[in-house]
Amino acid sequence: MGRIVMKFGGSSVASAQRITAVADIVRSRLDRRPLVVVSAVGVSGDGEPKITDQLETLAELANSHRPYEENLDRIRVKHKKVVRELGLKWEAVSPVWKKLLAAVKDVDRPYREFLDEVFSFGERLSSFIIAEAFSSWGIPARCADVSELGILTNENFQDASVAPENESKVLAALRDEEKILVVPGFVGHTADGRITTLGRGGSDYTAALVGSAFEVDEIQIWTDVSGMRSTDPRLIPDAERLDVISFDEAKELAAFGAKVLHPKTIEPAMRKNIPVVILNSFKPADAGTTIRNERVKQNTVIKAIAHKSGVARINIESTRMLGSAGYMARIFTVFAKHQVDIDVMATTEVSVSLTVNSMRRMDRVIEELREFSNVSVDEGKTIICTVGEGMRHTPGVSGRVFSTLGTAGVNVELISQGGSEINITFMVDDKDAERAIRALYYSCIS
Ligand code: ADP
Ligand code: ASP
Ligand code: MG
Repeated sequence: MGRIVMKFGGSSVASAQRITAVADIVRSRLDRRPLVVVSAVGVSGDGEPKITDQLETLAELANSHRPYEENLDRIRVKHKKVVRELGLKWEAVSPVWKKLLAAVKDVDRPYREFLDEVFSFGERLSSFIIAEAFSSWGIPARCADVSELGILTNENFQDASVAPENESKVLAALRDEEKILVVPGFVGHTADGRITTLGRGGSDYTAALVGSAFEVDEIQIWTDVSGMRSTDPRLIPDAERLDVISFDEAKELAAFGAKVLHPKTIEPAMRKNIPVVILNSFKPADAGTTIRNERVKQNTVIKAIAHKSGVARINIESTRMLGSAGYMARIFTVFAKHQVDIDVMATTEVSVSLTVNSMRRMDRVIEELREFSNVSVDEGKTIICTVGEGMRHTPGVSGRVFSTLGTAGVNVELISQGGSEINITFMVDDKDAERAIRALYYSCIS
């Protein structure tokens, strides 16, 4: 049997007790020579925010020259408790801790670069501690240092990506390592060695990059739910688990808010045709969800619903006759220049409506768009994405979706069906989102 990647998210490594459970899971699969990827310490129910969030606050304070010692102390206390309860000595961790102290003092650089280095310590600390714990329990393990990762990214700090041609460089320096590698998720670096991060929730993407580089048999994402559900369990707690879904379905669901999987995870796995399996570290015996290259139809045409709230709609109308090709090109150039991703889009010859996740960096975008367009912005919107392989070539699906929403009294805007024909995506006001999702779930899925 070939190797596997096992990625453990924040809640799976949030305490000494959780890390002990992780060790049991890893131990039971040692014959698969797992490559272990870990997130930063997450929420464990002690009222403390997750470490990555705490590091962000720390970076903000340090950057604006406000006192941050108390925040630093909270981060230290949290890790010290985990270390002590694992039966380890803090002295072993202190070289990593000292690097964090030095990084926080080094504020005299662009904030986005500073933040990514500070961010990286969540995963650098957790991977170090977990490797030490594994070793102390007789699982021969070693933590991969940032300098050994080979996760060569672009310079898009906070949301960096690895070009497909660089995927084979991932962990290349550690290809022959005999011990179990514990890899810090979320972290990469530029060609000149500055640290980047891969986007919030990006440790899933690290797992896929490692899996692709080592051409493993399976990429396991261990989290706090037993697989992907047909609808966000925070909205519909009894939404059923999806047994198998296709790469295309998973890509749409992850892109439109199914937080359980980072959207960038699918591409590297898909290119090498490696199944991604979502499993529950709190209930390791539970069945999960397998994402693979197989179009599985089921009884209901719509298999799942994802949603993303708090998005903004940008309406752009041409003030000059440019011809639609030139007009689109100009719009895209402005968004690309400021590194703002567009989610959903609808167009006519002279006007374009599109959505963006947040208004970050949008001031500059709007200013430049206004040089050749009228621009208006509507905030407080939710994108809802319905997905199912069965939608391909099935008539009447959109009729069903929109009549359901009509009956529920939900006003729908900006409808789009992607090229893959396996989704119908549209926008509603934030205030209508929950009602819309419930109506669709009970009419089209359950
Ligand atoms: P981790 O820390 O392990 O990376 P995340 O918090 O990123 O975990 O993702 C797991 C969470 O994703 C679940 O607790 C659940 O609330 C949320 N979630 C959103 N949509 C879905 C869905 N369709 N299926 C399962 N979980 C979902
Ligand atoms: N620690 C990072 C975050 O909280 C990455 C991850 O957990 O996947 O976003
Ligand atoms: Mg996650």
